[in-house]
Amino acid sequence: MAKTVLITGGSRGLGAATALLAAGQGWNVAINYQSNRARADAVVDAIHKSGGKAIAYQADVADEAAVVAMFAAVDRDFGTLEGLVNSAGIIGPHGRIDQVDAAGLARLFAINITGTFICSREAIRRMSTKHGGKGGAIVNLSSAASRLGGPGESVPYAASKGAIDSLTFGLGQEVAGEGIRVNAVSPGMIDTEIQPPGRIAKNGPNLPMKRAGTAEEVAAAIFYLLSDEASYVAGAVLGVSGGR
Ligand code: NAP
Repeated sequence: MAKTVLITGGSRGLGAATALLAAGQGWNVAINYQSNRARADAVVDAIHKSGGKAIAYQADVADEAAVVAMFAAVDRDFGTLEGLVNSAGIIGPHGRIDQVDAAGLARLFAINITGTFICSREAIRRMSTKHGGKGGAIVNLSSAASRLGGPGESVPYAASKGAIDSLTFGLGQEVAGEGIRVNAVSPGMIDTEIQPPGRIAKNGPNLPMKRAGTAEEVAAAIFYLLSDEASYVAGAVLGVSGGR
């Protein structure tokens, strides 16, 4: 029987590339998006055209009630859940810390941190052998920024991804004995729409590989951690950052 993975932020970027890869490998894919229905539908259509099964679900991952309702809808539509990829995320307030405000920080942390926690909670309630589940895998999206710090432009974002590293390490141990592997991928600069205009062209050539990464290169790592190929990998943060 096909396994099912829910990918938050599956309508664009790294989430969409992972959705296409997982569907090609025989997984059913639940594609979450926040506001851009057309982009989510385009990913669903591409999967249907290649013979796979996918459904789009609107939910703001920062909205607990919406997340709970989304997981209930996935239960209804697919029956079981074997994978969760927490890819929904924003970069948030740009600039130095002496310019940030609490509202911008709250929204950033609500999406990048709380959203990942709440989606993971819902997945664990379904997958954990402690709750009668059959196990599964959770893959979080950290960032090389958690190591690099993002001085001058994105320290809040970097800090939000530092929280994801800690969550991955702690939760990875918490549920490893309950059939759930929790890991993270930590991408460097990847060419998706999350990047501010011009940033890839300006900074890509200065990276160790002289280029930014592609969404497909990150999706391959995410799918590895999702799959049984990574059966003894838990609590790991896998860098996909082209050497930096
Ligand atoms: P992206 O191309 O901007 O796509 C973001 C996705 O997240 C979209 O599907 C978007 O849906 C969704 N989303 C945003 N806010 C949401 C919310 N509140 N609730 C539900 N969905 C929401 O970004 P990406 O490059 O794929 O990034 C994916 C993840 O990788 C993020 O966590 C990011 O921090 C991390 N990451 C990216 C890079 C990079 O260089 N690209 C590097 C390191 C880490 P809508 O279209 O509906 O808004």
